[in-house]
Amino acid sequence: MLSEIRKDPLSNDWVIIASERGGRPTDLKTETTKEEKGKFCPFCDSSEVSEPVKPHSICAATFAPDGKWMTRILPNKYPALMPEPILAQREMDDLYHCLTGVGGHEILVDSPKHDETLATMSKEQIEAIITNYQCRYSYWRKDPRITYLSVFKNHGKVAGASLHHPHSQLVATPLIPPRLTTELNESKEYFKLNNECLMCKILKTELENKHRLIFENNSVAAFCSFAPRFPFESLIVPKRHSASLEEITKEEISDLAEAMSVIFKKLDKLLNDPPFNYLIHVAPLRTPGLLYYHWHIEVILRLSQPAGFEWGSGVYINSVPPEDAALELNKVKIR
Ligand SMILES: [Zn+2]
Ligand SMILES: [Zn+2]
Ligand SMILES: [Zn+2]
Repeated sequence: MLSEIRKDPLSNDWVIIASERGGRPTDLKTETTKEEKGKFCPFCDSSEVSEPVKPHSICAATFAPDGKWMTRILPNKYPALMPEPILAQREMDDLYHCLTGVGGHEILVDSPKHDETLATMSKEQIEAIITNYQCRYSYWRKDPRITYLSVFKNHGKVAGASLHHPHSQLVATPLIPPRLTTELNESKEYFKLNNECLMCKILKTELENKHRLIFENNSVAAFCSFAPRFPFESLIVPKRHSASLEEITKEEISDLAEAMSVIFKKLDKLLNDPPFNYLIHVAPLRTPGLLYYHWHIEVILRLSQPAGFEWGSGVYINSVPPEDAALELNKVKIR
């Protein structure tokens, strides 16, 4: 196949799909980094976790029927931002702009079991993780200084996870991240011209042509991105138009958990527990209910790393066409 330069309609990223450069998509398999035995785990062994659950530290919705906790929230020991009282702005040298580091940084422990992964945990456990995310959006919305909540998961050392125990993180910021601003602007512009949500249109297209579709149930669909920066980069999208994960219903949580379970099981089997990040994109906290913005989860596999060209140009080279990635994933049998 000839190389192709593709543009992502939501992020505006340009990507060179150069399949000639790579071998088969599954050649990207990684060696799983085994954890040393007997290593101290702050989510299993620390006093914080053995203490009884304090009301503010856990979302009540994520207890198992037997009363044991399923997910819990811990403050980050090395927070990037702190809940300081005053948000101040400063200009320097008639040039530079600066805000006080007001915000929040939390660890969301995704399971009491040290060795579980999304590929091995139960659907109920993944439902608890999603419910926990939902609670954090509601919680941080009450703080008027916070305009955006980045919820994400790093899995594997290469992807930035320093701890093996399954966990997600949350960073609450007094600013809307630039990547979100681009998505919001593109979505708004598209809506103005077409009177339709851009992600609803993408979803309709992917469900119709099925070139990149990797999962579908009643309320959720997943597909490899048309212009993926990285091999196997995918989107998990709710079918019902909604601007924020906070508005998700019980049935949708169940469907989303099924989608995540199937996708991560397949990735695990095909690529040997690959390192990944996923991140949740929602409308900013102060502008909920947007008709033109549609929340979603971006899954980024870390099988190849950006290098000089990517850092310098913002353009990515990807050796695995998303159509091939979807084909490989759809061949994987699980269960
Ligand atoms: Zn642990
Ligand atoms: Zn939509
Ligand atoms: Zn996005």
